[in-house]
Amino acid sequence: MAVPARKTSKTKKAMRRGHIKLSVPGLAPCPNCGELRKSHVVCPSCGFYDGKQVINVK
Ligand SMILES: [Zn+2]
Repeated sequence: MAVPARKTSKTKKAMRRGHIKLSVPGLAPCPNCGELRKSHVVCPSCGFYDGKQVINVK
């Protein structure tokens, strides 16, 4: 089996992984309560989706 001739240096590894990062989820304010929530997802703070109460939140 072919094996790399040299160990990959810390710098080379870091350069390769430089663009690998967690992406920020698309957040938009809830039209009902104004709280930031993920788009296309029921608002966790008021339970509204598409202008209707979908789940009960205390
Ligand atoms: Zn809301």
